[in-house]
Amino acid sequence: MHARSAAPSRDPGLPDARGPRAEPPWSAHAALIEASRCLYCFNAPCSRACPAGVDVAEFIRSIRTGALRSAARLVLSANALGETCGCVCPTEMLCVGECVLGAIDGQQPIAIGRLQRFALHWARSRRLRLFEAAPPSGKQIALIGAGPASLACAHELVRLGHQPVLLECAESPGGLNRTAIAPHKMDTDLPLAEAEWLVGFGAQVRYGVRVGVDVPFAELERDYDAIFIGVGLGPDRKLGVPREEAEGVMGAIELLHRIKSGDFVRPPAWERVLVVGGGNSAIDAARTLKEIGTPEVILVYRRNEEQMKGYPHEWLAAKMAGVTASFLTQPVEVLAKEGRARGLRCIRMTLGDADESGRLRPVPVPESESELAGDAVVVAIGQADPQELLPGLPEDIRIAGGRIVVSPETGVTSRPDYFAGGDCTNGGAEVVNAAAEGLRAARAIDHYLSGKGN
Ligand SMILES: Cc1cc2nc3c(=O)[nH]c(=O)nc-3n(C[C@H](O)[C@H](O)[C@H](O)COP(=O)(O)OP(=O)(O)OC[C@H]3O[C@@H](n4cnc5c(N)ncnc54)[C@H](O)[C@@H]3O)c2cc1C
Ligand code: SF4
Repeated sequence: MHARSAAPSRDPGLPDARGPRAEPPWSAHAALIEASRCLYCFNAPCSRACPAGVDVAEFIRSIRTGALRSAARLVLSANALGETCGCVCPTEMLCVGECVLGAIDGQQPIAIGRLQRFALHWARSRRLRLFEAAPPSGKQIALIGAGPASLACAHELVRLGHQPVLLECAESPGGLNRTAIAPHKMDTDLPLAEAEWLVGFGAQVRYGVRVGVDVPFAELERDYDAIFIGVGLGPDRKLGVPREEAEGVMGAIELLHRIKSGDFVRPPAWERVLVVGGGNSAIDAARTLKEIGTPEVILVYRRNEEQMKGYPHEWLAAKMAGVTASFLTQPVEVLAKEGRARGLRCIRMTLGDADESGRLRPVPVPESESELAGDAVVVAIGQADPQELLPGLPEDIRIAGGRIVVSPETGVTSRPDYFAGGDCTNGGAEVVNAAAEGLRAARAIDHYLSGKGN
């Protein structure tokens, strides 16, 4: 197998990738200039491309006219996580990718994410309360997890007059939005501040509570009027090959979390790191490794470049940072010496017929094993199924293909009193999807509680 030669690191002197790394929010002046370029399209394609359906043209028009409260309210009514989404949404694939200005020669598309972040930052930094809650209904809803899906659901439940109670096993809110987003996109402070602002509107939170372990489901059913599951997916999935427990082998989410929390300094011996996977998490981990000064980072992927699941613009940025790749390469064993990883034994792959997802299936080439040297191995091949996070989940809640099955319109599960949304139902998407699904479920819970059925 072949790894393309390493380009020089963009910034080899950088000691670590701890925040704050994301660019600061725009000034009012910069936002006004950008908002003035918008064509305020009718039935705007950018809004149609947003999974949360944010009314982009209208909130940008509000910025243009100085109505910042109205701009923030417009975003928040569709996406409670609007401020962090302004930093982390893959806008090139969503709203910005559809901006009509981008199709006109010599024009740049509108920087929708940055304008959205500006509007929400303006409101949050003033601790504004943008909505009046409906009169109290007396209904309490348990939300399992305090990640984006539950936060968005809780925000809408408060607006509708209900009392959400978030039960979170970690000690802070935000889920993966706080722990796993690559440091070059966002630090950990912003999602924490956003979550605390949202919770401050009237939700209750209990941290350090693992539902299914510390609190049984029967107790939730007894004490609450409805239950929302927003647990995301489980920890990093393992390769399942010999010697994976060797020192220097870790998952991408674990690595990113440790870097972001300041709990990780690149060992000097990490001269060459192998990152296994071809999705966005693999690309984020590889680029972050370059940013903390790793001289050589090689993506090890079993398909070819065209079949990568990661976004092309993210992969291009990683390549520009110096990440290289060994395509059509599948690890079959971790190589270790005295308990420490020293590389991977891999088998060469070729591409066969299309699989269920439409991508070409990787097929091993017989007798093609070879060794790929590396001082550490980062595994980014997905996350464990959500049921691993929920011991004792009632059996009549349907799970299929590693996802909790819900109605896409309402988020209701196979039981009328249980709702779900976010990664645990969509199999792992973006923060904006989790926020949209949380909001949708809140409205369906309201409908259920008002006795109108589902
Ligand atoms: C490496 C990586 C990079 C990413 N980068 C981006 C990006 O750049 N842009 C983007 O938009 N999205 C990105 N995402 C995806 C995004 O982070 C998720 O889609 C989003 O966080 C999902 O929200 P959620 O609320 O469904 O789940 P999560 O964020 O996973 O939150 C679930 C919460 O539930 C808690 N929990 C779990 N089990 C229990 C239990 N039994 N009891 C109590 N609490 C429990 C967890 O502690 C967690 O806080 C990335 C994901 C990964 C893994
Ligand atoms: S939420 Fe994300 S996708 Fe939607 S308009 Fe805002 S930045 Fe674009």
